[in-house]
Amino acid sequence: MVTIHNLGFPRLGADRELKFTLESYWRGECGQEELSRVAAAIRERHWHLQAESSLDFIPVGDFSYYDHVLDTSVMLGVIPERFGTASGLDTYFRMARGQAADGKPYRACEMTKWFDSNYHYLVPEVQPEQRFTLSSDKLFVETAELQGLGYSPKPVVLGPLTWLWLAKTTSDFDKLDLIDRLLPVYGDILRRLAGQGVTWVQIDEPILVLDLPPAWINAFETVYHRLQSAPVKVLLATYFGDLGAQTSFVCKLPVAGLHIDLVRAPEQLTAVLDNIASHKVLSLGLIDGRNIWRTDLNAALNTITAVRGRFHGELWLAPSCSLLHVPIDLEAETALEPGIKAWLAFARQKLAELATLRLALTKPEAAEAELAVAANAQQTRRASALIHNPAVQAAVAALNGSLAQRAQPFAIRRGQQRLKLKLPDYPTTTIGSFPQTPEIRKARADFKRGLLSEADYIDQMEQAIAFCVREQEALGLDVLVHGEAERNDMVEYFGEQLAGFLFTAHGWVQSYGSRCVKPPIIYGDVSRPRAMTVRWSQYAQALTDKPMKGMLTGPVTLLNWSFVRDDQPRSATAYQLALALREEVADLERAGIPIIQIDEAAFREGLPPKQSRWPAYLEWAVQAFRICSSGVSDSTQIHTHMCYSAFNDIIAAIADMDADVITIETSRSNMELLEAFIGFDYPNEIGPGVYDIHSPNIPSTEDMIALLEKAGERIGADKLWINPDCGLKTRQWQDVRTSLTRMVEAAKVLRSRV
Ligand code: GLN
Ligand code: ZN
Repeated sequence: MVTIHNLGFPRLGADRELKFTLESYWRGECGQEELSRVAAAIRERHWHLQAESSLDFIPVGDFSYYDHVLDTSVMLGVIPERFGTASGLDTYFRMARGQAADGKPYRACEMTKWFDSNYHYLVPEVQPEQRFTLSSDKLFVETAELQGLGYSPKPVVLGPLTWLWLAKTTSDFDKLDLIDRLLPVYGDILRRLAGQGVTWVQIDEPILVLDLPPAWINAFETVYHRLQSAPVKVLLATYFGDLGAQTSFVCKLPVAGLHIDLVRAPEQLTAVLDNIASHKVLSLGLIDGRNIWRTDLNAALNTITAVRGRFHGELWLAPSCSLLHVPIDLEAETALEPGIKAWLAFARQKLAELATLRLALTKPEAAEAELAVAANAQQTRRASALIHNPAVQAAVAALNGSLAQRAQPFAIRRGQQRLKLKLPDYPTTTIGSFPQTPEIRKARADFKRGLLSEADYIDQMEQAIAFCVREQEALGLDVLVHGEAERNDMVEYFGEQLAGFLFTAHGWVQSYGSRCVKPPIIYGDVSRPRAMTVRWSQYAQALTDKPMKGMLTGPVTLLNWSFVRDDQPRSATAYQLALALREEVADLERAGIPIIQIDEAAFREGLPPKQSRWPAYLEWAVQAFRICSSGVSDSTQIHTHMCYSAFNDIIAAIADMDADVITIETSRSNMELLEAFIGFDYPNEIGPGVYDIHSPNIPSTEDMIALLEKAGERIGADKLWINPDCGLKTRQWQDVRTSLTRMVEAAKVLRSRV
């Protein structure tokens, strides 16, 4: 017997129905009844859809109106005081979004990334005197719903230690001390589920793949020992990495089953088999829950056979992690090139793969046809001319240190750049985009739909650029940008022009709450058939005597915001991207663009969960950036931009990127993020964002001066640039004008003191 199960399913619906209903509820356009009706319909549809693959257990509790970590906090009764004592959906949304139905503003809970995925969760807040009580019926109600349809539920609960690990504390105390008070609620949850006839509960403890402090590791023993008394079986689920040094310990925890991620960490299998007892269930995560490739089912079967030779307990098969991170259904992609479509699997197809695996084990003849299709997909993908570009492969193979090295060190480049650019002290600039007006969006959409000719489209974009340049000149900015009117999105714009990328029509993945992204798929060797940005930058430069800054998205960010091919290391794809961008950088320089900014907003996002693996990632990520940026002459100035980042633990790598100027987000943290640069004695120039472009507030000149004084004292006034936090595309021109006028004023005040 082989059991197949799923760890979690996307929530928003194939057509993002929940997103639209949530947003209409937030606008007050539909009531709670309508919202819960739509939600229940989505749940039911998704359960039927999962049942198509005859899963033995269907996950429940993975559905959420916003976020499963927030659901867990609410279930445990952990609602920060500022949200009052009322429970219910509106309090829940207030915690998530910071807005009340009555328009009263609240400080929303902080949001941050779920391990190394692009999903964001709401950070629980705990206090020393924190109390916990079972405060929500959601899980039990949904379990009963699922049972009502005749399916076997496997409730999914975020584990107590992972939940606590993710929590932030409002004062200085050891939050692990709270575990004794927290645990009884988990006991209540398990007992109540048992009372509903549930046999298995999946408890997610992904922190087991991190490098945990000893006290936290030890806590696992106590916690699971105590939960053992509940009359249900616990499947301890780990994912996103390997158990590492904790393998033998985790295998011996008093739980009935263990799930491991064999996609991200196939190498952990041997150690797990060495340590797991045969009275336990071992769940093998063989189907990639984080990427969209079809599984090599024959390879998976070989793994299973090998496991069976050594492990005589009960085997379960599953995706590596929740399918939250992939789109729902490949069948919706009717316009995809059929050859490539055959290589892909979304959530629904991944569950079908599980069914095929089981069939292959129980009734091999019946699975033959399916296995042949799967093998053929692997074969055609490996051999396809679509993914192999010998010239690109040769260029990557020929990479050597010299391509990643500017001719002269920064100190010398700096002199040459000063001579050429003749910028004042405290040069002012912006991060790239200017407001995307309805006219700009319409022109782009019409062009895409064929309603606007190419000539008319170019004309409209040039008008937008000319307007933007005039505005910047009037404001008195020193380094101008073209404004990015032609770009919908900083990844999509480049992906659409690079060979090796494809885009889906419905491949939405939840980023946070109702927000989704549609990541491009990098399926083949990446190359740049033609220049991507040069015409716009060149047009813009011709309109002004001020230096125009070219604007590119960096290789690491393109990589981290895409589904990446799994048939070569991520580093190889990063190098291909870097070489393609290097050509663009060269073309921009040749076209007379004196400054080129290469955005790496998602640089930090690629850090692996285990800190001990960071150096390997940072090494190739930095190298990729250097490859794309080092082909220019010393007098060409390279900028990079990073937002939403903490820098303290990666500052050496940031410095190693050797950009002449880095602009970062700092205003929200009152320049705290700058500390890392100060402590490290960061050698190159820095533009610490002086105002928060995400806030509707217009910054005051005094506040910006104060921030700059604070920065100048610490990093040296001669290294400082003055700029906003991030791009201005979501703002209105009126506000942008006022904010930038004040920013330029602040620069003048500082200059007058020199
Ligand atoms: N150049 C981009 C812009 O200004 C940068 C966006 C980002 O960092 N997220 O829009
Ligand atoms: Zn930014």
